[in-house]
Amino acid sequence: MTATEARHVVIVGGGFAGLGCAQQLAGHDDVRITLIDRNNYHQFQPLLYQVATSQLAPSDIAHSLRSVFADQKNVDVKLAEISEVDPEARTVTSTDGERWDADVIVLAAGSQPNFFGTPGASESSFPLYSLDNATELRSRILGILEQADRDPKLIERGALNFVIVGGGPTGVEVAGAIADMISVTVPATYEDLDASAAQIHLVDHGDALLKPFSDKAHAYVAKVLEEKGVQIHLGTGVKEVGTGHALLSNGTSIPTRCVIWGGGIQAAAVAADGGLAQGSGGRIDVEGDLTLAGHAGVYVVGDIANIPEEGGGALPQLGSVALQSGHWAANNILADFKGKSRKPFVYHDKGIMAMIGRGAAIAEVGERHHEIHGQLAHMAWLGVHASLMTGTKAKIEAFVDWAWDGFSKTGGPHVLDRGDAAQIDWDEDVVVSQSAQS
Ligand SMILES: Cc1cc2nc3c(=O)[nH]c(=O)nc-3n(C[C@H](O)[C@H](O)[C@H](O)COP(=O)(O)OP(=O)(O)OC[C@H]3O[C@@H](n4cnc5c(N)ncnc54)[C@H](O)[C@@H]3O)c2cc1C
Repeated sequence: MTATEARHVVIVGGGFAGLGCAQQLAGHDDVRITLIDRNNYHQFQPLLYQVATSQLAPSDIAHSLRSVFADQKNVDVKLAEISEVDPEARTVTSTDGERWDADVIVLAAGSQPNFFGTPGASESSFPLYSLDNATELRSRILGILEQADRDPKLIERGALNFVIVGGGPTGVEVAGAIADMISVTVPATYEDLDASAAQIHLVDHGDALLKPFSDKAHAYVAKVLEEKGVQIHLGTGVKEVGTGHALLSNGTSIPTRCVIWGGGIQAAAVAADGGLAQGSGGRIDVEGDLTLAGHAGVYVVGDIANIPEEGGGALPQLGSVALQSGHWAANNILADFKGKSRKPFVYHDKGIMAMIGRGAAIAEVGERHHEIHGQLAHMAWLGVHASLMTGTKAKIEAFVDWAWDGFSKTGGPHVLDRGDAAQIDWDEDVVVSQSAQS
C-alpha cells in the first residue's frame, strides 16, 4: 500500500495519550500518522517538580518527538498549535492557519492549570504543568536563594517563605522536595544564608492531603511533611496572590515571592477554542469507545476527555489513564479500518503513588490498592516512573541524577537559566483584582 492510499490519522498532542496512540499505530504501514504538538518534545509531567527543585535536568524528563519516531517512516511530526477542530469535516487548523485533513482525528491535548478566578493567581503564582513552568520555578527558587544570600534583610520581607496551593500529588511532592532542598542542599551550598528561617506553607481547601488515598495514608503524609518543617493549612483557601504576598481565606497574609500553584486543572484551551461541546472541568465527554458522540472518526483521549468510569462518573486525570486510553483508541481505529467493531475502553487500575521527599513515598498498588509507604514505596515509585519514561538514555540519566541527588548534599543541576523568572522588585506588591481579571 502506498502512502497516498494509507488512512491518515491526525493526533493533536504528544503527551502520554497522543504518544501512546501514535506508537501503537506506527507499526501499521497502511496507516499514515501526523502527530502535532506545540512543543517539539514529549514532557513527563509527574517529574516536573524534580526539575523545579533541581533534582533532575530538563533533558531527563523531555524527549524530542522527532527522535522517538525517527525510525518510523509513517509518522510525521509537526510543530504547531491547533486552535480549531472540525469534527464534521475531520480537519484541524493551527493558529497560523495551516489545515490538516484526516480520516481520523485523535484529540489528546491534555490539561492546563485552573486558577478558579483567584485574583492575581495567573499573573503572580508559579503553576507546575509544563517544562517551561518547571524551569521558571527553578529559576525563581534559585533567584530568591541567591538574592537572600547577598542581602539577609530580605528574609524579614518573606524571601524564604514558600506558599504551595493544593494538597494533591503536585502540592505534596513539591512541598516535600522544597523542604529537602532547604534542609539539605541550601545549608551545604549557601553558607551565608540562614536556611532555618525558611517557611513552607501548604494550603488546601479540603480536610486531608492526597485525598484519594486512605485515612492511614493521610496521617502518614501529614506526619512526614510536618517532620520536614512544612506548615499544613487544611480547610483553607488562597483568596488572592500578589507579587509579594498570598492572602489566605482565614485572613492571614503571608509575605512571599514564591507561590506555587497546584490548585487544580481544566481541559487544554483547544477544548474551548476548538468549538467542541464541553462537559465537567471543561473536558470533552466521550462515548465508552472513546469517540466523540455522533462522530465515529474523532477520538478524544487522556486528560482532555471525560472518559466514563464503570459505575458512573469519569476516570481521573492520570498518566496511566492517558497512556491506556491512547493505546485503546489506536486499537479501535485499527478495528474500524478493518471493518471490525470498536470496543468500550476498560481501564486497568495499577494503583496510585506519590513521593513525599527523600526516602519517603506512599503507594497504593494493584486494583485493590494495597498500601505501602517509606523506602519500599520510594523504590516502587522510582521503578514505575523510570519505566514510564521515553527512551533508555533518559532513564539512565534520571537514575544517575537521582543517585547523585540522594547521596550528595549539593544535589542535582542547580541552574538559574531563566533570568526573567528570577528578577524580583522587592518594593512592589501588586494584586490584580477580580473585577480587573473578568
Ligand atoms: C505536576 C504533575 C504531576 C503529575 N503526577 C502524576 C503521577 O505521579 N502519576 C500519574 O499517573 N499522573 C500524574 N500526573 C497526571 C499526568 O501527568 C497526566 O494525566 C498526563 O500527562 C495526561 O496525559 P495527556 O497525554 O492527556 O496530556 P499531556 O501529558 O498534558 O499532553 C498533552 C500534549 O498536548 C500538547 N498540546 C496541548 N494543547 C495543544 C494545542 N492546542 N496544539 C498542539 N499541541 C497541544 C501539549 O504540548 C502536550 O504535549 C501529573 C500531572 C502533573 C501536572
